[in-house]
Order: sequence, then structure tokens, then C-alpha cells
Amino acid sequence: MTTVLATEQCVRCRRRRPQAYWPFGLQAEVAGQGGEWLCEACEAVPGAAWSFIDAIRAVWPDAAFFAAEVYGDVIVRFPLVIPHSAHAEVLATVLVR
Ligand SMILES: [Zn+2]
Repeated sequence: MTTVLATEQCVRCRRRRPQAYWPFGLQAEVAGQGGEWLCEACEAVPGAAWSFIDAIRAVWPDAAFFAAEVYGDVIVRFPLVIPHSAHAEVLATVLVR
């Protein structure tokens, strides 16, 4: 089993991942290491986000999924799906633009 998530493109449309620290869309992380990413356009396709989550969790059951959204002048990154083993420190974080 592969233990390192690594991608530079959207898993669905192959769009190149932006260099932003918190890219928009859906980001999978395992043990704090990010990698697999579903871009925001694909995330908006009905069923695509859940398919992404199901596919990742089939391989990495402890994967957590984060989304980033703009609210006014800040970008908020928040956990959307967390594994059963997650601890309380999995919290939303804010980046001022
Ligand atoms: Zn995409």
C-alpha cells in the first residue's frame, strides 16, 4: 500500500494544482500530509466529491478531507470529513488575505 499522498493535479480533470498554500476544492490528508486534491470545479459536479472521498478512504481509511472557502477578507480552511480516529485538534484555520 502506498503511504504517501502526492499529486500536482486534480484527480478527476487533471487540472494543474495551484501553488496556493490552501488550494480551493477538496484536499485529502493522511497523518497531516496532504496530497490528493479535487479541484473546486470538479467538487461542484454532483456526486464527484463523495466519489473522491470514497475512493481515497478505500485506500487510506484515516484520511481527512479539508475544504477552503473565502469569507470576506479571509480564507477559512475547515475539515469537511474526518476519520473516526481524529482528535479535537482538527479545527478550522483562518488565513487573512
Ligand atoms: Zn478537477
